[in-house]
Amino acid sequence: MKDRFYFYPSIPRRKIEIIEDRFGDGIDRARVALKTGVPIKAYFYLSQSKKKLTDGRLWHKGKMLVGISPRVLKSRTYLHRLSASAAHEYVHQLRDPKAAKTVLAAAVEEGVATYIETQLFEAPEYLDIKTLNEGMVRVCADKIRAALFDKPSNRRMIWSNEAYREMLYRLGFGIIRRYAKDHPKLSLAALARVPQQKYIRFAIAGGIIKP
Ligand SMILES: [Zn+2]
Repeated sequence: MKDRFYFYPSIPRRKIEIIEDRFGDGIDRARVALKTGVPIKAYFYLSQSKKKLTDGRLWHKGKMLVGISPRVLKSRTYLHRLSASAAHEYVHQLRDPKAAKTVLAAAVEEGVATYIETQLFEAPEYLDIKTLNEGMVRVCADKIRAALFDKPSNRRMIWSNEAYREMLYRLGFGIIRRYAKDHPKLSLAALARVPQQKYIRFAIAGGIIKP
């Protein structure tokens, strides 16, 4: 089976080829790194987000919905976000983020996807990766601490508030980066298959999160 890409009419036709090329490259690289061959279907629309360059989400296993901001289509320098975003969604597709029962679990799932995206391509701009040290990761954990053990659906605030959502991504990324550092022999394929609970126990045992 092959990957399939579908385009909503909001995407200009002359951009379809470049989107297929960049997104397909991200999926291919993720597939090699993660040692999995599952094909995907991706649906692309033009997003109106002023801040986010791409807005990917997994509909069901194998189905991705990808919003692309007009800025990405206008600029060569932003086009590579499409490859990074593809790799990110592919990690979700492998792990099934719907299995995240708490906000902390959701942070871990975002962390795995963002860490692998960053290793294969580059860090997403909101991560401020150059300045994101472990102290800052703990600050992020403290700021959303009251919500960490709640169901994600109980804490819509985290998802709807950009500042909180970014803290959640930074926390998740920080957990996985630290895990990878402590387990330097693990490949990306292995990191992508570490169970969620193991990452959570690691984050608590290592003091990143206070239980
Ligand atoms: Zn994600």
